[in-house]
Amino acid sequence: MLHLDTLLLVHLCVTLLTTALVAASANYADSPPELRWWAAGNVCVSLGVVMSLVETLPALLTSVAGYGVIAFGLALVLRGLRVHGASTLPWPAIAAITGVALLVPWYYTVLAPSRAARLVFSGFYFGALDLWCAAAIARHGGWRVNAIAVTGFVALGCALLLRGTGMLLDADLAGPANALMMGVTALVIPLAQICIAFGLIVMVMWRYAERLRRLSTLDTLTGTLNRAGLELQGKRVGLRAQRGGRSLAVVMIDVDHFKSINDSHGHLVGDEVLRHLSALLRRELRPHDVLARFGGEEFVLVLDDLRLADALVLAERLRARIASTEVALADAVVRFTASLGVAGSDRHGYDLIRLISAGDAALYQAKRDGRNRVGAG
Ligand code: GH3
Ligand code: MG
Ligand code: MG
Repeated sequence: MLHLDTLLLVHLCVTLLTTALVAASANYADSPPELRWWAAGNVCVSLGVVMSLVETLPALLTSVAGYGVIAFGLALVLRGLRVHGASTLPWPAIAAITGVALLVPWYYTVLAPSRAARLVFSGFYFGALDLWCAAAIARHGGWRVNAIAVTGFVALGCALLLRGTGMLLDADLAGPANALMMGVTALVIPLAQICIAFGLIVMVMWRYAERLRRLSTLDTLTGTLNRAGLELQGKRVGLRAQRGGRSLAVVMIDVDHFKSINDSHGHLVGDEVLRHLSALLRRELRPHDVLARFGGEEFVLVLDDLRLADALVLAERLRARIASTEVALADAVVRFTASLGVAGSDRHGYDLIRLISAGDAALYQAKRDGRNRVGAG
């Protein structure tokens, strides 16, 4: 039913095609390093598979060097997976993985020639390496993203281990059970390879999407949300509060005389003050409160389930904390104050733009009243 030579040809074509797919996706100037390791690893595995399939080549090339090249390729793939998880696989470990795949087949080719023993070894060894790859991905969780690649590596690893076991039990592969096992694994292996190639690309694409999201919604100086992030998150929090019948408050914060901090200490110190302020605000807020940098030295808070009176209490606490904080520099200590404007849905409804503009008006009233104070809108 399952024609082995056809499946072998399919396996070879899939190996080459998936390699081309991973190599093509790595082939641009700014591709992440892990994608390049995976591409290089896939090229080596393909080369090794081709070498080990061409029986007309000398035995040392097909059975020894071929296995070594496959193992080297798998080690590079594993290095890429480690790099993706912010670590690495050192070169001595790669050399050891490759060395074992050269030594054992060499022993069973030159010293105690046995094709069956080589096939048993390759099934177990490459199967174990594939499961190691699966474990390297699984360690980092993120199942929604990593499940495809993990499934591929586990399927490939299990198929190869099954082959190794089959060969161990029945070295000449004559039995019908073994023929069925060979057919099934020959079917599973290319499918698993497709799964792995797509899985790896999905992992990288997800990283990119995440990086783009961060770039487009986070402020690079302070790490808080920027205007785009505020629009997204602020509206979400506002809608949630409105649907839940809870109050919503907005607090606008502006550093007093920030220009003079820049003028007397320099812009880098000004930047440090902004980072310090955003960290202080984050510490004082609840995890789900929205904190965004509205512009230069202005921040905005969107607070779910806080009535105007409670928001005023919070704003007063923040004002006092800011006024008592010190930014310690190498040769100076900078103190600063801020003015705050508070607006609540009790008076202005849930429209974020309206709340921000009411908070802004309250803030400028606080400035006019002498700064370092809280105004209510
Ligand atoms: P006020 O009390 O009225 O708010 O006075 P101010 O000096 O704080 O306000 P003003 O709007 O006159 O000046 C704000 C300054 O903030 C001017 C601008 O150069 C500076 N600024 C804006 N963005 C940044 C930044 O990212 N880093 C630094 N260091 N300064 C910035
Ligand atoms: Mg300002
Ligand atoms: Mg200011």
